[in-house]
Amino acid sequence: MADSGEYLAELLAKEKSGQLRPSDRLSIPCQPMPEQDPFDRRENIGEVALGYTETEARLEALRCLQCRNAPCVEGCPVGIQIRDFIKEIVDGDYAKALAIIKQNSLLPAVCGRVCPQEVQCQEKCTVAKKFKDVSKAVSIGRLERFVADLDRNGGIPEVAAETGKRVAVIGSGPGGIVVATDLRRRGHDVTIFEAFHKPGGVMVYGIPEFRLPKAIVQKEIDVLAKMGVKIELNFVVGRTQTIEQLMKEDGFDAVYIGVGAGLPSFMNIEGENLIGVYSANEYLTRANLMKAYMFGKGADTPIAVSEKVAVLGGGNVAMDAARTAVRLGAKKVYLVYRRSEKEMPARVEEVHHAKEEGVDFRVLQNPSRIIGDENDRVKALELLKYELGEPDDSGRRRPVPIKGSEFQLEVDTVIVAIGNKANPLIGQTTPELKLNKWGNIVVDEKCKTSMEGVYAGGDIVLGAATVILAMGQGRTAAAAIDEYLATRK
Ligand code: FAD
Ligand code: SF4
Repeated sequence: MADSGEYLAELLAKEKSGQLRPSDRLSIPCQPMPEQDPFDRRENIGEVALGYTETEARLEALRCLQCRNAPCVEGCPVGIQIRDFIKEIVDGDYAKALAIIKQNSLLPAVCGRVCPQEVQCQEKCTVAKKFKDVSKAVSIGRLERFVADLDRNGGIPEVAAETGKRVAVIGSGPGGIVVATDLRRRGHDVTIFEAFHKPGGVMVYGIPEFRLPKAIVQKEIDVLAKMGVKIELNFVVGRTQTIEQLMKEDGFDAVYIGVGAGLPSFMNIEGENLIGVYSANEYLTRANLMKAYMFGKGADTPIAVSEKVAVLGGGNVAMDAARTAVRLGAKKVYLVYRRSEKEMPARVEEVHHAKEEGVDFRVLQNPSRIIGDENDRVKALELLKYELGEPDDSGRRRPVPIKGSEFQLEVDTVIVAIGNKANPLIGQTTPELKLNKWGNIVVDEKCKTSMEGVYAGGDIVLGAATVILAMGQGRTAAAAIDEYLATRK
């Protein structure tokens, strides 16, 4: 068989002469993502997925049928013109491919890595439908990442003439970054206020380096700075200053609230205050933002040196925590989830990677208490076995405990990763803001809150959601803020 370079050349020649039939495209094998070996990567925090080569990317792009109605676009929350950018990859015009993506998405290197494409664009892909298998869809995310990673100089968006209008963006997550970029482009004076000492939101403090290298996020932040966006770090809105003060005393004309959903939920079971129990947020923040894996070698933040870790939960956050614990040297990492693997909300790819790295999945089990030793340190989990009953409100089958099935699992660390909710600080210090019963900010279709000149989006509005949804709301809010500013003298 010809090597992949020759195979590509043959397909490209056929494509150019208009002789590449849909059946030829469907017979091109899916191009797997090159990855670090599972055994090696347990020992390092480097990125797991290594990215396509040019040959792999063009072969994958040739699998696209260039459907007239492009159903993939419907599945993209920000409406990227997927068919068109894939065609540019086939033609080898990567700069044009990137320009097409950037019309709708400002952070393609991030989204290409972390978007749940299998339930968005790739789920709708005609190729997936033909094979009745979503894992055989055109790998849209990997192609997006391919072109984004080729963009070495980043390109600084043009900034319009100064308008003299000032906007405060609270939070530097993906939503805040999009709002700041879009409004600065239109010539407004933008300041981002961020509580942490580093900007980037969950992309920096939550999602680990091995899934999303921090240098990629930093590059986007550098672009903001070059555009003239000011960033005030260690500034907790609601403590350092309130929204009202920013507007009335500091003279900001409009405010965007993009503070995310950073308050971890706990199980409220006995033993959650023992030494060795972490929220996934704390564990991941220590490891990612504070670089605790380098404790004593240049970083000041310690983290538990664990032998046996139990992570509670079945979402992406739980997978990230479990895979981080593996890399921090734990000998045994359990993932405890009360439903079956089928109901797990985590991405299939993350589950697959966690298993490859040796995480031991304990499904249909849930802790009833955490047991401590005489020094109040975790020594075991008491678990209860579960079975699945009828579907609940979420549509997933309800986990039902099996009476008398308790047993103990010896662990020294427990990481609770069962969800995050809105931090109440902004709501408590801004009484004019309307909140829903979960503490999320209520907005209209333009992301406008109940307070004049104040807009909000991302996880603080949607509850813990996704990067792309936060970006989508950021774009909507920026357009609405721009309109609002035009009405002010
Ligand atoms: P965030 O990213 O949450 O950023 C909010 C920022 O506001 C933070 O920097 C915070 O410090 C700051 N802030 C908070 N309060 C204040 C205040 N009072 N004053 C000033 N600043 C404040 N999504 C995906 O699409 N794919 C994934 O694979 C994925 N994995 C995830 C893994 C983990 C561990 C976590 C926690 C989340 C994951 N998500 C994932 C979800 C995704 O990261 C979020 O939906 C997204 O980051 C929300 O963006 P945002 O702009 O609303 O705010
Ligand atoms: Fe290509 Fe799939 Fe989109 Fe059709 S649905 S244009 S095959 S990516």
